[in-house]
Amino acid sequence: MIVAKSGAKIDWYDPLEHQQLPKRPRKPEEQDKSSPHTALARLDLKDTNAVLNFANKWGLLGLWNVPAYQMAEVLPENDVEVNLWKEKYSSWYIHPHKMRYHGWQEPVPVFIEAAKEYQNIIEEIKNLPPIGHEDRESQALILELRLNEKFKGIRPGVYLGENENWVAGWQYRSLLDAIYLLTFMSLVGNKYWRRCTKKRCNRLFITENPDNQYCSDRCRNAHLVQKHNEKIWKENLLKIYTEVDQKWLIDTIETLLGQGISGEKKLSKKIDSILKSLREV
Ligand SMILES: [Zn+2]
Repeated sequence: MIVAKSGAKIDWYDPLEHQQLPKRPRKPEEQDKSSPHTALARLDLKDTNAVLNFANKWGLLGLWNVPAYQMAEVLPENDVEVNLWKEKYSSWYIHPHKMRYHGWQEPVPVFIEAAKEYQNIIEEIKNLPPIGHEDRESQALILELRLNEKFKGIRPGVYLGENENWVAGWQYRSLLDAIYLLTFMSLVGNKYWRRCTKKRCNRLFITENPDNQYCSDRCRNAHLVQKHNEKIWKENLLKIYTEVDQKWLIDTIETLLGQGISGEKKLSKKIDSILKSLREV
């Protein structure tokens, strides 16, 4: 059973921001940096430590949300009621004494089974007979059916962005779904999906260059101007607030900027009110 250690720290990440690197990593340690889908495709499933390393880095596959592995209907006597989402899951996936995110677990054999299936599909894609081969058409058809079956847990979604603009995104319920989504993205033409770095844009865009950070030239210019302004505001504020700890001041300014507070005057006002409330305490 793969289960989080008591007191383990849980981090959040967006699997879609981890797309395949343009180059194959040279050292095995660099493998981890690539993306969950390449990591799973290259995972040595005979090595239990490698499986645990994967789970430590990327998390569990979320198989309790994947119908093929849920087993909720198959093993009704093992069902437990989970109040979190009011759905039924097999007790395979619920730790009896742990709560919330630490309460999820995955049996190693089921994890390996799901990973093996993914690796088989990737192998089949790689080994598709060449154009003109008599088996190509039938094998391609089977592969299409298998892949499209796997994409069933993925849906397009829209979100109202900070700038009151509609932003495109994806909905998926497990890391395994996200891994198939990343596979889908890399199959449809080696394009990279990125989120615009500019604050208040955050738009999802497609690019052929994985280093692209902005959805448009407009966003790139606006972001560079913003960065330049932020630098000047920071320098000026450091000159004004000489009596407070400089490291604290820089952290506070960063936090305020992160909250979307813009302009030297507005920042200064916020800092004043924070300092005032600190003095009152
Ligand atoms: Zn943008």
